[in-house]
Amino acid sequence: MIGTTKKPLEEILQALAGYEKIAVVGCDGCAKVCMTGGLDQVKELAATLKEEGKEVTVEVSPERTCNIMHSRNFLNPCKDQIAAADAMIVLGCGGAVQIARQTTEEMGLTIPVKVGLDSVGHMDMVIPGVMAMEQCQECGQCILNETGGICPVTKCAKSLLNGPCGGSENGKCEVDPDRDCAWVLIYNRMAALGELEQLKRYMEPKDYSKMAKPRVLYIKEGRCA
Ligand code: SF4
Ligand code: SF4
Repeated sequence: MIGTTKKPLEEILQALAGYEKIAVVGCDGCAKVCMTGGLDQVKELAATLKEEGKEVTVEVSPERTCNIMHSRNFLNPCKDQIAAADAMIVLGCGGAVQIARQTTEEMGLTIPVKVGLDSVGHMDMVIPGVMAMEQCQECGQCILNETGGICPVTKCAKSLLNGPCGGSENGKCEVDPDRDCAWVLIYNRMAALGELEQLKRYMEPKDYSKMAKPRVLYIKEGRCA
């Protein structure tokens, strides 16, 4: 899922300054799981905006706002309420915000679409409802087969591909001693699997041309460009 955190209220109010009627849109996908942007948080923000003297024209939370079909299915029936707003605020990841904006444009509406959350990367729930952790940076050239299923791109503070930096102490990372050194984890895992020999293989630097933004995934061809 995409991890998100709430922007401070002051930042949200600043983004909405000068707009009196607001459409509040959430996302019942990842943002709901993060407890930053599901219907409950939409209602919370709507109540706060009302206390701040604003009028809320609609409170809605599509199943997954980053999905254009869901966005259309949930927002099109609210077209009149969205059209009545001076601005929309979306409690979703950056993708959700941009798809919601695209949906308003498809409706023929030209209203500012603001973001209420900060997106902090691809996260997976480690302790349900408590803590999620970044596991993968979607580099497009996965090397988990060579590293015992532990990603050094994401879990090593320096994203080193060919072994540790030498600064690790007692298995902890020199950049953040509260965290395990990814390469110690990889070594121990490979040792347990009896695959230490594999670690002698030189890992080529990543081909950054494969990460040129924005990446486009051609679903039928199974190709990313
Ligand atoms: S190497 Fe790491 S960052 Fe790249 S795709 Fe695999 S898990 Fe993700
Ligand atoms: S101590 Fe380990 S995890 Fe930290 S930067 Fe060095 S190799 Fe990476």
